[in-house]
Amino acid sequence: MAKLILDAGHGGADPGAVHNGRQEKDDVLRLALAVGERLEKNGVEVAYTRTEDVYDSPFEKAQIANRGGGDFFVSFHRNSSPEPNQYSGVETLVYDQEGQKIALAETINSALERVGFRNLGVQERPGLVVLRKTGMPAVLVEAGFLNTDADNERFDLQFDDIAQAIADGILRFLGVGSADRPSEDAVIVSTGNAAMSSAGDTAMSSVGDTALGLVSDAAIGPAGDAASLFGGEREEDVQDEDSGEKLYRVQVGAFRRLDDAVRLERQLRVQGYATFITT
Ligand SMILES: [Zn+2]
Repeated sequence: MAKLILDAGHGGADPGAVHNGRQEKDDVLRLALAVGERLEKNGVEVAYTRTEDVYDSPFEKAQIANRGGGDFFVSFHRNSSPEPNQYSGVETLVYDQEGQKIALAETINSALERVGFRNLGVQERPGLVVLRKTGMPAVLVEAGFLNTDADNERFDLQFDDIAQAIADGILRFLGVGSADRPSEDAVIVSTGNAAMSSAGDTAMSSVGDTALGLVSDAAIGPAGDAASLFGGEREEDVQDEDSGEKLYRVQVGAFRRLDDAVRLERQLRVQGYATFITT
């Protein structure tokens, strides 16, 4: 089972953003602990960079994470803008637009969007130490603007839903969980490549049927690589009916909602993969 490092931003003498007496360090500690509790209930191993109001530098936090040996790192923050009530919504920050962390970030954003937050997307922040110095896929969630009344109201009134949504997003990304576990009705995104566009077209036209995408080993190496690249699972080898080429079925993700699948698909396309969605 995967191990997650949860990082509540700031702490101690560093309050983070402050607005009308409200301090970011308090909101994010409460949120990190609530998400962690829900993950642990589903059998995910969780470690925290802090569970109290203490300060460690971002560099020290990355070191704590690296020593803890987590598979993924999720840092919790709240956003701030120069003027109050200027912006509203959630965004998730990543070091760059590569690897599994993009899918994790997209899944968390989508989960928060469902709670009612505006989804401001996934942003690259190569300068952030906790994203740069952590030796595992790392994301930083900005859970709404601390100096925007609407976001604070949502944060307070729907706190349990927000914690549950983030936990569900992480569980969905990990492919674990009970009630929210992807099943036969899930939408599956798979990758193909130029050579496989015919299979992709076929799958696209059969949306509504149950099908898995096909991935050729020509462009992205052995299916094992393709599977590990996207955290997907390799299925049985199959033969492409048209070309006779040997192909692999690789499930890249499973989603209850088509929008979520579309978002991940968009990310994969940005990374240069021909993708298609099947249901
Ligand atoms: Zn912060």
